[in-house]
Amino acid sequence: PAILDTIENAFEPSEFPKSEVASAVIHRSLKSAPLQVIRAEGTKVTFSNGQTINDTTCGAAVACLGYHNERVKKAMIAQIEKFSYCNSMFFGTEIGEQLAEALVEGTRGEMAKALVMCSGSEAMDAAMKMARQYFMETIPKQPRRTKFIARHGSYHGTTWGALSVGGHVARRELFEPMLLQNCAKVSACNEYRGRLEGQSQEEYVARLAKELDDKFRELGAEEVIAFVAEPVVGAALGAVPAVPGYFKAMREVCDKYGALLILDEVMSGMGRCGSLHAWEQEGIVPDIQTIAKGLGGGFAPIAAILINHRIADVLSQGSGAFSHGHTYQGHPVSCAAALEVQKIIAEDKLVDNVREVGAYFGELLHAYLDDHPHIGNVRGKGFFWGVEFVKDKITKTPFPKSLAVANTIFDVGMGPEYGISLYPGQGSVDGVVGDHVLIAPAYGTTREE
Ligand code: PLP
Repeated sequence: PAILDTIENAFEPSEFPKSEVASAVIHRSLKSAPLQVIRAEGTKVTFSNGQTINDTTCGAAVACLGYHNERVKKAMIAQIEKFSYCNSMFFGTEIGEQLAEALVEGTRGEMAKALVMCSGSEAMDAAMKMARQYFMETIPKQPRRTKFIARHGSYHGTTWGALSVGGHVARRELFEPMLLQNCAKVSACNEYRGRLEGQSQEEYVARLAKELDDKFRELGAEEVIAFVAEPVVGAALGAVPAVPGYFKAMREVCDKYGALLILDEVMSGMGRCGSLHAWEQEGIVPDIQTIAKGLGGGFAPIAAILINHRIADVLSQGSGAFSHGHTYQGHPVSCAAALEVQKIIAEDKLVDNVREVGAYFGELLHAYLDDHPHIGNVRGKGFFWGVEFVKDKITKTPFPKSLAVANTIFDVGMGPEYGISLYPGQGSVDGVVGDHVLIAPAYGTTREE
């Protein structure tokens, strides 16, 4: 009962606006149903009670082109008119090839191949299995590599592998005894919380690199498959970018021990941070990356892993087959939606808009919020920003869960005076990290908006 109580409090479903409609759906709360969406256009979402809100977060940082797009609709229908489904484990499709080519091209050749699936969690599990298979096919093979190092205060999804590398306490808690035991954790790179008084950014990075190096040696460096991280931490901490030089230092530690670097760009990728991939701003290239939300913009479920040449070469020359597959992988209609979304992002230069207007948006957030006594930190990049609340600004003490500000802001924002929705988060580490709201506007948002 104590654990269930913690989890229920962690999600606080009772705080979210309710509909009067009884529901057969297993919602986040089984005790009541949330408001029902009946229409959505641009960034405006209308509910069955007649209320319309302006969604500042693209849902869960997904609907980067807004909720409706004629071009994407037509591309999906054109694919449906040809055929809607194909068994992608036996056969290929033209649309699947086109999307994979576009994704590889988008990395300027740094990545070699793509595997398309349905969700970020699936992609994370696939990335972890791909990494293991790589070491089973290197010459000589390295079967002792069975461990992952990931970070506290991270979120990688809900499937067993993704949850095991994740560090979101509330989402792990119930399943903790059953999670993969070979996933160790090091500190997140969270400048506001982690950089010590008087410590420079370089010293902070060196400290985190040493912590990772120590963890490799503690686990047995030759037993580690990969270091797993989000370039900008999303749901767990609230849009926390790494300090400059952090990912270079992490890449160096991985290289020193021959381990892989897996970057989870499910939320931070596909333009959200002002470059197509957030890693482009870090001066490094991952061995494997996941992408999802901005890939298909929510028009259809889609996610992918991209692998670099090192992985692709070993697998091509080895077994020649990735030992993994899903019924709906490479779904043609999802591929058609994603390809069109990516064409629009490129043609309309939306990533440039995210970078430029995002910087202005950041300036505004700092100008309006930095001095507030209960706002501890404003951080982010591109159109991916987080605002963290604290009870005491000097000591950075968070509010207890029962007094979390984020849900109240969600409720007030949704009310008639404002009519906007923000993405509340509890802070993944109770008592250590403050609650926060995420703001993740659509890529075409203008300075005026
Ligand atoms: N990784 C990150 C960074 C995420 O933000 C999420 C979802 O929010 C996931 C993985 C899991 O993706 P999905 O919910 O599509 O399974």
